[in-house]
Amino acid sequence: MKSYRKELFFTVPTRRAFINITPQVEKCLAESTIKEGLALINAMHITASVFINDDEAGLHHDYELWLERLAPHEPVSQYRHNVGEDNADAHMKRQVMGREAVVAVTDGRLDFGTWERIFYGEFDGRRQKRVLVKIIGE
Ligand code: ZN
Repeated sequence: MKSYRKELFFTVPTRRAFINITPQVEKCLAESTIKEGLALINAMHITASVFINDDEAGLHHDYELWLERLAPHEPVSQYRHNVGEDNADAHMKRQVMGREAVVAVTDGRLDFGTWERIFYGEFDGRRQKRVLVKIIGE
């Protein structure tokens, strides 16, 4: 069995953003030379997510509003976590949007369903963060 590991780095200039990282993961898969197996992609921070959905701007706008209703950033004083920091909402948004995605690798390609793409969800940006890509198989 072959094993491949790589960290991707992101510095998002805003507090929140959704970034399509599918091209970077496809590049990792090509580097791995793995044809059959599994790819795990996970955020290495507890205020960021990796998830799979549609690359459609309206949906991303809807996610932003929906997450802000679920866990509003302001007022920051509403959260017990926010003693010396202000990112309690980011922890909750990450919990809802998930830590990782797993994609089957078939014939050297990411075996997606219709319209599926991999996204990095940032909820407390403006600093460098990492995403782990681990691919195993033959
Ligand atoms: Zn925190």
